Amino acid sequence: MGTSTSPVEGSSTTVEGSASAPPRERIAILGGGMASLTAAFALTDTPALRERHELTVYQDGWLLGGKGASVRRMGSRARIEEHGLHIWLGYYENAFTLLKRCYEELGRPPGAPMATLRDAFLKHSAIVIEEQTGRGWEPWSVNFQEDDDWPGDGRPLPTFVESLRRSVRQVIEYVRTFWGEIRGRRAEVDDAVGQVQRLLEGAVAPGAPLLLGAVARAVGDGLRALLARLGDAARRDVEVEPRLRRLWVVLNFFGSILVGALRDGLIGPNADFEALDEVEFGDWLRRHGASETTLSSGLVKAFYHLAFCDGDGAGAGLALLGMLRMFTCYRGAVFYKMRAGMGETVFSPLYEVLRRRGVRFEFFHRVRRLELSADRRRLERIVVGRQATPRSGEYHPLVEVGGIPCWPDAPLHDQLVEGEALARSGADLASFWCDWPDVERRTLRRGADFDRVILGISLGALPFIASELIEASPRWQRMVEHVKTVRTVSMQLWLSEPVGRLAMSSRAPVVGAFRRPLETWADMTHLAPVEGWEAGDGVKGVLYACGQLGSGDDPVSPRDPRAEDLAELERIALDFLEKDMGHIWPAGADPGRGGLRWEALFDPEGRAGPERLRAQYLRVNASPSDRYVLSVAGSQKHRIAPGDAGFEGLVLAGDWTRTGYDLGCIEAATMSGLQAARALGAPVTILGEVPRRREAPRIELPRYVDRPGEMALRSPYVLEDVWMTALALRARPGALRALLDRYLNTPARGHVRYIPAAPLVVLAASFSERAFSGDPEHRRVGTMPEADIAFWVPAWALGRGRFGGIPERLVWFLPHVFVSTGAAAAAGREVYGFPKSVVDVELRRAGRALDHLSITGEVIPRFSPETRAGRGRILEISRREVEAAPPRSIAEVLGELTGSFGQPPSWSTSIARRLAANEVTFVFLKQFRDAEHTDRACYQAIIEATARVQALRGHGRLPGALRVAWGDHDSHPFEADLGLEPGGQEALAAAWVDFDFVLEPGREVFRAASRPGTPAG
Ligand SMILES: Cc1cc2nc3c(=O)[nH]c(=O)nc-3n(C[C@H](O)[C@H](O)[C@H](O)COP(=O)(O)OP(=O)(O)OC[C@H]3O[C@@H](n4cnc5c(N)ncnc54)[C@H](O)[C@@H]3O)c2cc1C
Repeated sequence: MGTSTSPVEGSSTTVEGSASAPPRERIAILGGGMASLTAAFALTDTPALRERHELTVYQDGWLLGGKGASVRRMGSRARIEEHGLHIWLGYYENAFTLLKRCYEELGRPPGAPMATLRDAFLKHSAIVIEEQTGRGWEPWSVNFQEDDDWPGDGRPLPTFVESLRRSVRQVIEYVRTFWGEIRGRRAEVDDAVGQVQRLLEGAVAPGAPLLLGAVARAVGDGLRALLARLGDAARRDVEVEPRLRRLWVVLNFFGSILVGALRDGLIGPNADFEALDEVEFGDWLRRHGASETTLSSGLVKAFYHLAFCDGDGAGAGLALLGMLRMFTCYRGAVFYKMRAGMGETVFSPLYEVLRRRGVRFEFFHRVRRLELSADRRRLERIVVGRQATPRSGEYHPLVEVGGIPCWPDAPLHDQLVEGEALARSGADLASFWCDWPDVERRTLRRGADFDRVILGISLGALPFIASELIEASPRWQRMVEHVKTVRTVSMQLWLSEPVGRLAMSSRAPVVGAFRRPLETWADMTHLAPVEGWEAGDGVKGVLYACGQLGSGDDPVSPRDPRAEDLAELERIALDFLEKDMGHIWPAGADPGRGGLRWEALFDPEGRAGPERLRAQYLRVNASPSDRYVLSVAGSQKHRIAPGDAGFEGLVLAGDWTRTGYDLGCIEAATMSGLQAARALGAPVTILGEVPRRREAPRIELPRYVDRPGEMALRSPYVLEDVWMTALALRARPGALRALLDRYLNTPARGHVRYIPAAPLVVLAASFSERAFSGDPEHRRVGTMPEADIAFWVPAWALGRGRFGGIPERLVWFLPHVFVSTGAAAAAGREVYGFPKSVVDVELRRAGRALDHLSITGEVIPRFSPETRAGRGRILEISRREVEAAPPRSIAEVLGELTGSFGQPPSWSTSIARRLAANEVTFVFLKQFRDAEHTDRACYQAIIEATARVQALRGHGRLPGALRVAWGDHDSHPFEADLGLEPGGQEALAAAWVDFDFVLEPGREVFRAASRPGTPAG
């Protein structure tokens, strides 16, 4: 195809309004990226909507598309130059549906280039993940299943359970083929893999009870234990046998996700991904069993690279949501490459259709400042710098290349009054640092020029254009502070030789997880025919590379960094091509040096050596609005939803807004644009919309004023060198039920519910050498020894909603806790709600066994006005040697007792597993008595907190018989509370454990509404 370029006449069709029609609402759309154009599309989608709205898009420079823009370099055979490699994912149902409709409305004649959506995209399923091992870089080729389906028909996304089943099936399939190649080497590995596979198959079998909370949790725990076994069995081999290592990584990675999803309640209609926002994805994986081998694998790195967040991290909830959609919700293929540049595939069709629908485009309009009304509640004025003047009153931005309307690499100067001067200056009107002076400052006024506004300029630019809004709103301050953005780089290489194999794959793969900042590569040779090359030019291949530069903490450069950035990227690229190209593209490498043979780069000017890089395209995206929006942990809650900007007349659109699907991608930008249109009253359908969790009204918590010596230090709390003895005591279920009702269920008013999990209580006595705050600031306070003796009541937290009444989490309620220090009592009571009191503890040990323990403290034998409180014995544990059957474990006793408790066996095994697992969750009633209305609580909440074992040095059963005796005191009603025998009883079993653990910050499961000064109803 030759280069035939000609300006495309923009149609100036406008919508006719009838004389009696009400005035149309004027909507100013600031910025013309994917989100803005989507909003414009939805707001003009029917004749009735077009009657209602008059839209004007204000865009700086000469082209639309923002981070997704691409241009044709008119002096270089109209080659495509992208902002960065763009690939669409097969689950982008909203974006594909929008674009399909756009192509249909465009109505290109059959046979014309890029006539339909299917002409415009190419299915892609070949991926290579690069891994750096002791042997150097090793490519790992993965081919996803592909079928005839296509996205974009407006069909809903699969449900979560369907997706989960599909992903588990993909893993099973992967294991089947992969393991088939290597099985038979080691019996333990084969055995463990076989068991994992059977467990997974069972989990997705028709009718498998994936949805049932406790069962799901039991499957999760079982899987975790099996994966740990597999890890042990395979550890010796994984480093020397790459295939086994990969099998382990796949199983361990997806297994950890499945375990985590099951344990964290992400299965089912109430799945709450947002709850995991504070947790970094890698930490979450580690918590659910991912090994360090897995976490440093190319597989995990590829995810971080895909989201440009290597080093910055990602919120676990969003990362999981994104991955789940990517792997399990795709239609046809996991990836779609465009058959031309993103500019002409996406943005010129959208521009042409919107223009036909009557949307006005004001190119060369840079938004300089947003101004509020005097009361700071309304967006009142938009100050805009006009950069150039179209001679005919309207600028027509497209040129035709090979029959496709495209965006040129510079403004079409002959259409502009200032065209010649602009061409001479070489000014880049799209750059934030461009010093081309505005030809006019315009102030658009509410009521005169616009009624409402869609802000589609991206987050990085807001501090520069929206400082008034940021100053006026703490929410905006939090958003710009916590939602981070990062620079990106891009490199495109044209080759004078065919690519052949890229990273060992001949399927024109997308290669991920390579050396930063050129970490993602793609063979894009299919684009050469749509560029304007002629046969004699000799372009035989096209490679794209893309990546993240620096981190989300890098500030926006105050002075123009473009020359420096480009020089840095050139240095990086030369180093990469010299050192790493031989691995990525062996055919283009010098067999001696291993680096690129420079003549393999296409250069129409025939330069020699590294100079040929001058004929390629390198780009750094550093302008504030062009910075890629990250989804770092803890940032989701600080995003602001399109319809919730907080300023009258202002709606937001962009992949930086809070849509529920808060990831930096085309699909998120599309969803945000649709939500913006909905906020302005357009009826829209949004596929796969993530329901927003119902939030408690935002309360800015006051800062806690620390007082030295008070010792209510910040959590988490670390307890090291802990020696614990735990005794199981038979208890009366009726008493336990009444206890849980009184202290948890009644205050929670049905919002959560707890029931006893077994007819027993555990009396746990632990002695820690060092207890301290893990908070970086409070760590400096020091450590202290601590003794802690408490009754633990095992309970199930029941699920709500459709599956209400189904046990969801095993928790422990501690109705009586005795400690040896005031600090432990203060922090426990004040921070979590442990009912702790300070006692004297006397302990006698015989090795690891507890021989005798007694605790003495303040007691009130009988409540009466005459009683004087005094010191007395609260509890005593004594051991006597007996000739008896071998000691039983607490888990065995639990199993036996829960059976007799009338519960299905899975419940008892689940309790046992949870005990054996490395964490326990506690539940508390935390409350403070109101100072004025002293029968009331000014704060009352149900708190859950998890303790995680950090090191386990040993554990075992305790021989002999342990007897617990308690005093008869009204102040310590153990018998009535727990249903114990009067005076004391013999332990059913006892065990010891030697370990370190961390008690993490608590989580409010329910908080009673209370207004200071007013008794709650
Ligand atoms: C290098 C790179 C590669 C990517 N690869 C992929 C991919 O493969 N797949 C994928 O799904 N997503 C990818 N993304 C993400 C995707 O490009 C974005 O999510 C999407 O384009 C964001 O659209 P938006 O409308 O939210 O913002 P933007 O595209 O940033 O739109 C903002 C608009 O505002 C305009 N603007 C800025 N300042 C002003 C001003 N002062 N006055 C007037 N107008 C202004 C901009 O020119 C632009 O038109 C990639 C992003 C980058 C940076």
